[in-house]
Amino acid sequence: MARRDLESVKTSLEARRTELVEDLERMGDEIQSIGVEQEKERGGLGNHFADDGSSVMEAERLSTMRADLSDLLSQIDAALHRMGTGEFGICQRCHQEIGAERLEAFPYVAYCINCQTILEREQALLSGG
Ligand SMILES: [Zn+2]
Repeated sequence: MARRDLESVKTSLEARRTELVEDLERMGDEIQSIGVEQEKERGGLGNHFADDGSSVMEAERLSTMRADLSDLLSQIDAALHRMGTGEFGICQRCHQEIGAERLEAFPYVAYCINCQTILEREQALLSGG
């Protein structure tokens, strides 16, 4: 990848990273405030679990999203690290160059499309039993 392109990818990755960190912080606050609400509600007598079912679901939804975002954040961190070591755009599994189109769409990916497919299949086999 050309030096100039690399710089622009780096800039956009860093911007994305900043956004993610802010989103993660905000979600953390939201999850915490939902937790606090629940504690307050639990203080009352005759509290039915179903009553705070929606906020439990909301907290779960947020934690799932948060887990996805923090996963993305670590991929971005790893991509930025690879830029420093000159490995950016190189598949971490087969060490071939990752396609330019793929990198343009997902600059933080660590694997080429072939390896990604193989890894996803392995993952599916492992988790599918
Ligand atoms: Zn590969």
